[in-house]
Amino acid sequence: MSKKYCYLFTEGNANMRELLGGKGANLAEMTNIGLPVPQGFTITTEACTQYYEDGKQINPEIMAEIMEYIEKMETITGKKFGDLENPLLVSVRSGARASMPGMMDTILNLGLNETVVEVLSKKSGNPRWAWDCYRRFIQMYSDVVMEVGKKYFEQLIDKMKAERGVTQDVELTAEDLKELAVQFKAEYKAKIGEEFPTDPKEQLMGAVKAVFRSWDNPRANVYRRDNDIPYSWGTAVNVQSMAFGNMGDDCGTGVAFTRNPATGEKKLFGEFLTNAQGEDVVAGVRTPMPIAEMAEKFPEAFAQFETVCKTLEDHYRDMQDMEFTVEHGKLFMLQTRNGKRTPASALKIACDLVDEGMIDEKKAVAMIEPRSLDTLLHPQFDANVLKETPVAGSALAASPGAACGKIVFTAEDAKAWAARGEKVVLVRLETSPEDIEGMKAAQGILTVRGGMTSHAAVVARGMGTCCVSGCSAIAMDEENKQFTLGGKTFREGDWLSLDGSTGKIYDGAIPTVDASIGGEFGRVMGWADKYRRLQVRTNADTPHDAAQARKFGAQGIGLTRTEHMFFNEDRIPAIREMICADTVEQREKALAKLEPMQQSDFEGIYEAMEGCPVTIRFLDPPLHEFVPTEEADIEKLAADMGKSVSEIKTIIASLHEFNPMMGHRGCRLDVTYPEIAVMQTRAIIKAALAVQARHPEWTMVPEIMIPLVGEVKELAYVKKIVVETADALIKEAGSSMEYLVGTMIEIPRAAITADEIATEADFFSFGTNDLTQMTFGFSRDDAGKFLDAYYDKKIYENDPFAKLDQKGVGKLVDMACKLGRSVNPKLHLGICGEHGGDPSSVEFCHKVGLDYVSCSPFRVPIARLAAAQAAIKEAQN
Ligand code: ADP
Ligand code: MG
Ligand code: MG
Repeated sequence: MSKKYCYLFTEGNANMRELLGGKGANLAEMTNIGLPVPQGFTITTEACTQYYEDGKQINPEIMAEIMEYIEKMETITGKKFGDLENPLLVSVRSGARASMPGMMDTILNLGLNETVVEVLSKKSGNPRWAWDCYRRFIQMYSDVVMEVGKKYFEQLIDKMKAERGVTQDVELTAEDLKELAVQFKAEYKAKIGEEFPTDPKEQLMGAVKAVFRSWDNPRANVYRRDNDIPYSWGTAVNVQSMAFGNMGDDCGTGVAFTRNPATGEKKLFGEFLTNAQGEDVVAGVRTPMPIAEMAEKFPEAFAQFETVCKTLEDHYRDMQDMEFTVEHGKLFMLQTRNGKRTPASALKIACDLVDEGMIDEKKAVAMIEPRSLDTLLHPQFDANVLKETPVAGSALAASPGAACGKIVFTAEDAKAWAARGEKVVLVRLETSPEDIEGMKAAQGILTVRGGMTSHAAVVARGMGTCCVSGCSAIAMDEENKQFTLGGKTFREGDWLSLDGSTGKIYDGAIPTVDASIGGEFGRVMGWADKYRRLQVRTNADTPHDAAQARKFGAQGIGLTRTEHMFFNEDRIPAIREMICADTVEQREKALAKLEPMQQSDFEGIYEAMEGCPVTIRFLDPPLHEFVPTEEADIEKLAADMGKSVSEIKTIIASLHEFNPMMGHRGCRLDVTYPEIAVMQTRAIIKAALAVQARHPEWTMVPEIMIPLVGEVKELAYVKKIVVETADALIKEAGSSMEYLVGTMIEIPRAAITADEIATEADFFSFGTNDLTQMTFGFSRDDAGKFLDAYYDKKIYENDPFAKLDQKGVGKLVDMACKLGRSVNPKLHLGICGEHGGDPSSVEFCHKVGLDYVSCSPFRVPIARLAAAQAAIKEAQN
């Protein structure tokens, strides 16, 4: 049997999201529970995939089915496409499985042409409305289907308003709008070289294709990559009969959330605009009224709406984000979905829903987006400095968080400045989907126009970026890259601070203070800990980072990089001496200087971790990273070592490597200079003994990790040095302290021979940064140059350094776990690459049965939550 590509709203339901997209599934669900929804049908995501398979064509089979469903729709609504008595007008709306705000485009009032508009005008006795619909349709269709820039049409509207001496769209008369429609069509013909299509069916096919095509636009591709949405999903298309909010002052259109998306407060939140259609509310053409005002002005429609909100929340058991239209006092529901929210409100809503008995703890844990926690963990403004900093202005608190950066005026600049390491605040009149990448690069976003549901506000909340919107007090001078606010001129590059929780704008840079986990955040994390199996450790090189991670709930350290400490000014001379030594004696002398420094670093870290396990990795990078490049430093080193400058230079030159990341580094250093392994073992063991003596209540079991092993014999060689050194020290101290010796699995050969390596290792820690690099054969530092081309060509959809490549690298991980455990059932397994804090990678780690993930301190709570979600998901399947 051939596939079914179209579903009436009455045929679908909320569980059919994969096939019908989020919007379509929910329109069907709302229809099923008896809510007032203008009827229509959904063209499936499979039709979209088929469109791409057919070389971007809608094949005859699908085309015929769409026509059949238009006829069904005509029967249901009693209206007909292009009819002179009762014409059917529809909207054509995209809707993917996951909501992709502002990414796809919608066409309203499709079905209109010169004849139909006259019919509508006469029959309704409302020519203004009829022509308003028509000019909107031409505008949207031209923009979306034919990609004739919106700008031209907006310029024509502005010109018309100026000629008529009016400021608002609603002040334009039927005649004005009719003239606009004529101008629009002329513009269309000039740009496209064809007449504007008059046949509704032709219009419909053009629109459906445009929606399918928009799945592959660059903005959509960027959004998908950021949000882990696979390209293969495709989008559905909804064809729905129109409800009109632009028929007069007893009509209007609105958007609302059942709870406050910024704070989580259980109170209806939204905006309503009279005599308006579609996106007028979010586009900021006129200032909408707060939803509370709607209660006074449209009591009947508002009462209906309140009932609908209650029904929807009870039904979906989550906060809803809805779009609706009032046509002559009657309410129509156009969309509902689980509303996007700030991280703080997500936590509050989850806790409130549990307390209201709507959901259980597991559901609460599952409904929080782990990556969104990030913003809550980042610093907030230092309250003391805040009090003393002049407030330059204030506007809407659109998306919380503290931001401090230099002013830039374009998304491109934001991207470019951020790329060279500057912190920037993006200041715009308003933002549009083209600005996404710039918004991402900015610490915060400030807009002159737009409300709480404007593009900037919605997108910033989604990204967890601080945003202050609608600051109409700003006089913008985009051309000269400056603006004035509160009597002061701010120029590009000036510092500005934004508080997205209060909406305040500060002149200057305000330092920030660290965040902590308390209240609802703590409650949700508590639930997460209850349901997860994976342990969560941190990667920390200093006592400060270790303490931070502890506060965020880290259960140990999975990776301490010893070399980071060597870069300190007071240590680098000693490490340089060690590198430039000619004899073992010289080297040992230099190492002897380093040993106490390392020991005290390790003691600090052990203390900060309060007895939790700590894995310390031996020196890893190629030695040339430490050698001096400045003439003065070279001279000093020569003097310190009693060598000539040219001798030192010869040594430095000899350290040059063609491919240092695949050169003399990791355990290869210990194989050539065993003294290094001896010194590091001594520092680690002596520090542990000292801390154990100070804290008898802790059980210190230091974990020594040998990096870059590819062959069991090299591990055995270094391990022997470690064991001899450690055992002697422990014996000498009269202690019975235990310790572990393990290795990183970061070379494919190690993964492949894991059954041999495991015979010499107490633990494996997957170093997925290097493992990814060596498996793909390209480096993290160079991949940026060509990965974009790979994304464009759909060869890779994600950066494998950010999201674990489960197919390739993951297969090595899985294999190494199985091989390792087959010979050493007690083998302890973890991951310490960047992936340890990426939610989908954490889920993978859970599945392959690792014991822990280790990630940077700020990602610890994210990993705790992701680990719980993985366990909960597994239990459900
Ligand atoms: P988006 O995903 O960008 O929100 P939508 O498909 O939801 O796009 O539609 C854009 C706007 O048009 C929304 O404000 C929506 O409520 C409105 N709209 C869509 N379909 C209809 C319709 N059949 N009648 C009236 N308004 C509609
Ligand atoms: Mg939109
Ligand atoms: Mg919508």
